[in-house]
Amino acid sequence: TETLLKVENLKKHFPIRGGILGKEVGSVKAVEGVSFEVKKGETLGIVGESGCGKSTTGRMLLRLIEPTEGKVYFEGQDVTKLSTGDMRKLRRDMQMVFQDPFASLNPRHTVEKILEEPMKVHGIGTPKERKQKVRELLEIVGLSSYHAKRYPHQFSGGQRQRIGIARALMTQPKLIIADEPVSALDVSIQSQVLNLMQDLQKEFQLTYIVIAHDLGVVRHISDRVGVMYLGRMAELTDSEKLYDKPLHPYTQALLSAVPIPDPLYEKDAVVLEGDIPSPSNPPSGCAFHTRCPFKMDVCSQKVPELREHEPGHYVACHLYTEEGSAAGQNKQPLE
Ligand code: SF4
Ligand code: MG
Repeated sequence: TETLLKVENLKKHFPIRGGILGKEVGSVKAVEGVSFEVKKGETLGIVGESGCGKSTTGRMLLRLIEPTEGKVYFEGQDVTKLSTGDMRKLRRDMQMVFQDPFASLNPRHTVEKILEEPMKVHGIGTPKERKQKVRELLEIVGLSSYHAKRYPHQFSGGQRQRIGIARALMTQPKLIIADEPVSALDVSIQSQVLNLMQDLQKEFQLTYIVIAHDLGVVRHISDRVGVMYLGRMAELTDSEKLYDKPLHPYTQALLSAVPIPDPLYEKDAVVLEGDIPSPSNPPSGCAFHTRCPFKMDVCSQKVPELREHEPGHYVACHLYTEEGSAAGQNKQPLE
C-alpha cells in the first residue's frame, strides 16, 4: 500500500526563559528526531507517558506547532515548506480529534454551527448542503439529526466526542490525528468510541494516528504502534509483535503491571504552555538509562539509534546493537 504520511527526523525544542529579563536559559527537547511512515488506510498508535512528546509530534504534523527541524511529507508533499494559506487548505485532508471534546467545542454555538464551521472555512458546499451534511454526519456518528440545534453542554462526554469526530469528518479528510480521543471518557464508553472510529475508518477509507498514554487503548485499534520516550521513538512495530514480544525494556515495563520509578518527572519537570511537562535536562545517551534494569556502560554514553532488529520491528536500545553485545553483556530482556 501507498505511504500517506512520512515523517523524517522531526524535532521540537521549546525555549526555557528565566530571570527578570526572560532570557533564554535553555530548551526543552520535547521531540528529538522522530521518524515514521503511515500507510494509506492504516492506524498507527503512538504511545508514551505524559511529556514524551507524542502530542507535540501529532500537532507538528498539522503544523499547529511549528517543527524546529525535520520533514513531514503528506502524499509526497513537504508540509513544512507550505505557506500558511496552503497549509490551511491542506488541513481539509488532515483533521484532528482532541482529548477533551468539551474544551474543543464552543459552548455558545449549536452543534450545527460547530459542525458547519470546517466546511465554511474551506468553502465547501452551499449553506443548505452544509446543513444536510451536518444531519447526515450526526446520524453516522450515532447521534440524531435533531441534535443539531442543541448545545455542547446538553451532551454527555461520549456524545461530545462523537460530535468532535463528526466535526473532523466534515471536510472528508484522508488522515485523522486523534490525540487521546478516549482518555477523558469512562472506560465503558471508551470502547464504544473506539469501535465507532474503526467503523468510520472502513466506511470513509480513513488513515489514523491515535495518540494515547495507555497501551491498552491503542492495542485493538492500531495496526502498528510506536512507543515514545522523552522525545524519541523507543520501539515501533506491528501491534501484535509489540504486545507479544516487546524488545525495548521501556515497552516491557509499560506492558508489565509493575510500576517503574520515575525520578525525572519528580525533579526536573518543566511546565510549558499547552500540555507538555518535559525534562529540560534529559539523561545522556539512552534517555531511559536512569530507569532501565538492563543498563550497560554504553547506555549513558551513546544514544541508541532506532534500527530494524527484525523485519518491520524497530527498536532503539543497545541490547540490540553491536556496542551492546561487544560490551560482552548478554543480558536478556524480561520475558
Ligand atoms: Fe536500557 Fe541501555 Fe537499552 Fe537504554 S539502551 S533501554 S539503558 S539497555
Ligand atoms: Mg498530551
